[in-house]
Amino acid sequence: DSLAGRFAVHPNEHPASDEEVSQVLAGPGFGRYFTDHMARATWTAEQGWHNHAIVPYGPLSLDPAGAVLHYGQEVFEGLKAYRHADGSLWLFRPTYNGVRLNFSGHRLAIPELPVDDFVASLVDLVRQDRRWVPGAAGESLYLRPFIFASEAFLGVRAAAAYEYIVLASPAGAYFPNGFQPIKVWVEPDYHRAGPGGMGAAKTGGNYAASLLPKVTASAAGYDEVLFLDAATATNLDELGGMNVFVVYADGSVATPKLTGNILPGNTRSCIMQLLRRAGVEVREDTLALRDVVSGIQDGSVAEMFACGTAAVVTAIGQLTGEDFSVELPTHTVAQRIYEELTGIQNGTREDPFGWMYRI
Ligand code: PMP
Repeated sequence: DSLAGRFAVHPNEHPASDEEVSQVLAGPGFGRYFTDHMARATWTAEQGWHNHAIVPYGPLSLDPAGAVLHYGQEVFEGLKAYRHADGSLWLFRPTYNGVRLNFSGHRLAIPELPVDDFVASLVDLVRQDRRWVPGAAGESLYLRPFIFASEAFLGVRAAAAYEYIVLASPAGAYFPNGFQPIKVWVEPDYHRAGPGGMGAAKTGGNYAASLLPKVTASAAGYDEVLFLDAATATNLDELGGMNVFVVYADGSVATPKLTGNILPGNTRSCIMQLLRRAGVEVREDTLALRDVVSGIQDGSVAEMFACGTAAVVTAIGQLTGEDFSVELPTHTVAQRIYEELTGIQNGTREDPFGWMYRI
């Protein structure tokens, strides 16, 4: 691979033992255990991006005046590496995430990272930590690239120094007990993003905005929160970390259009392509909550599901808001899309669009 080797490897002299690695890979969950290394690069106004390296995983040294700690100037990504049955290692559409990182960065006045360097950082990190990539059904190595403002300066302006880092964390199967429909709370009061804001960018502030309603919804027994558009509070936007789809009884499918307030999901984009390839009519549209709820009640809406890198596809079994609660017992399309997409990712199905990238 021509991109490999751009990040100089400084090996961890105290890597986890093979036994420790297999314990982590056998355990549940994700995001708590990290591999032996991380990718890193630094940006300064004088030098641009430099010091590209794979270094031992470990704490950062950051000045307490570092701009990210005060003004939240940061963007991130999330994607996965897979091990196929023949032992080969693959990324799923890494350039999509590289382009989106720069799209998010533009909104937060963060300097652009060349997409080739983004992909190279993933290739070099996964090659170095290949023994951490699990291979059982539904398992993967989750990759978390991010860029943050590191300049020690309390003035409110775009910082003059940034760090790019990629972490890797083994991820078990999201639904180890099979497809489990979730209960969703439709949030009437709080919004994650408003017109002209940062909703389409993958930046920490949007997630911070989603936490309070998530806490309240969790305490009331809901799994996820569905946010409405901030301007009118009448149309579906997205969940805290997933896009949303509606399946109609006539076989067509719709998803909220990219208004600038919702994240342009990679999974969303793939699902639209897979459905259209299968001849399904897919609309990107304004989806009024009122119409969706009445459609579920009169049977013209057959299913709803959410989608994102973490769980791929999640069926919605119940949708509840201030003055309604409806059940969605059917998940046929969600299940079919889940199997198609995970089949492409784990190498058991043909990859018709060339989404897989061999490491
Ligand atoms: N919306 C939000 C707010 C998200 O955080 C995510 C996860 N990145 C998604 C949608 C789904 O995006 P993707 O399919 O690229 O993971």
